[in-house]
Amino acid sequence: QAKASGLGRAHYYTAEVGIVTRERTRLLHGLQQAFDRESLFLVYQPQLALAQDRVIGAEALLRWRTDDGRFVSPAEFIPVAEQSGLIVPIGHWVLRTALQALARLRAQQDGLRMAVNVSPLQFAQPQFLAQVDQALHDAGLPPSCLELEITESVAVMGMERVSALLHQIKARGIAVAIDDFGTGFSSLSYLDRLPADRLKIDRAFVSALDSGDTTARIAEMIVPLGHRLGMQVLAEGVETPAQAQALRQLGCDEVQGYLYGKPMPLDGFADWLAQRETLA
Ligand code: C2E
Ligand code: MG
Ligand code: MG
Ligand code: MG
Repeated sequence: QAKASGLGRAHYYTAEVGIVTRERTRLLHGLQQAFDRESLFLVYQPQLALAQDRVIGAEALLRWRTDDGRFVSPAEFIPVAEQSGLIVPIGHWVLRTALQALARLRAQQDGLRMAVNVSPLQFAQPQFLAQVDQALHDAGLPPSCLELEITESVAVMGMERVSALLHQIKARGIAVAIDDFGTGFSSLSYLDRLPADRLKIDRAFVSALDSGDTTARIAEMIVPLGHRLGMQVLAEGVETPAQAQALRQLGCDEVQGYLYGKPMPLDGFADWLAQRETLA
């Protein structure tokens, strides 16, 4: 009896895994095609200095619109791209495209910078740094206008290698941000060994700021933590004036979120920037 039900369960799991694998394969095939046909594109979300209410730059975010006009969320396709290795060529394209976009935006507002998400696999490629140098060179931009966003998951490649690479990146004057801080398998000992310029507080903590629950206490602690480690602190996913006010009181340096601007295509971002200039 027990054996029979055990077998039944094993069957059930096998079927499930089969479905998940097929779905994954379908998604990967679609993504590969979208990349080949150049139907992936980038949107840009403004980042602002909180106290000065000044635009300092943008984060490039990848978008995939399928042939039937549906959007697939990066939360869904980035993991598939990572597992398959497709994130390496895609990430290279993202870097180059975002820097070309930045060259255009800097003609409009001097000093803007671009933040680009880098997946752990991409970061671990031996040619990564050379590609970054080349992309900056081709866009005619100084290293200081680029920020690479990494997450604590880069630790999978070994902290020795990560910290050596980060030192090389910093020596060039390229900035590094730790993304989604406080989520995933965060460890404060990693933070201590990652020489980063900026700490990004994850939206999960920011959204708690006007709720009054204990999660808000975490957001409050991250600001002085980042500062004590010599980093600027940027809050992600700011949606309400109350959250912005709380962040201002905490001394948070920078913000990004729907309250200020949604991720926009390049033309939209340029228009948005021009609009702000005329209002100022
Ligand atoms: P992330 O880097 O933490 O990006 C922030 C995410 O929060 C973006 O989601 C953005 O659209 C969203 N967001 C920003 N402000 C708000 C807000 O006020 N409210 C809400 N509800 N959401 C907000 P998105 O674009 O869906 O990207 C999800 C994740 O996918 C990114 O998280 C990043 O980890 C990854 N990703 C996106 N583009 C790339 C890329 O080019 N390369 C790599 N490796 N990963 C990427
Ligand atoms: Mg990011
Ligand atoms: Mg984030
Ligand atoms: Mg995220």
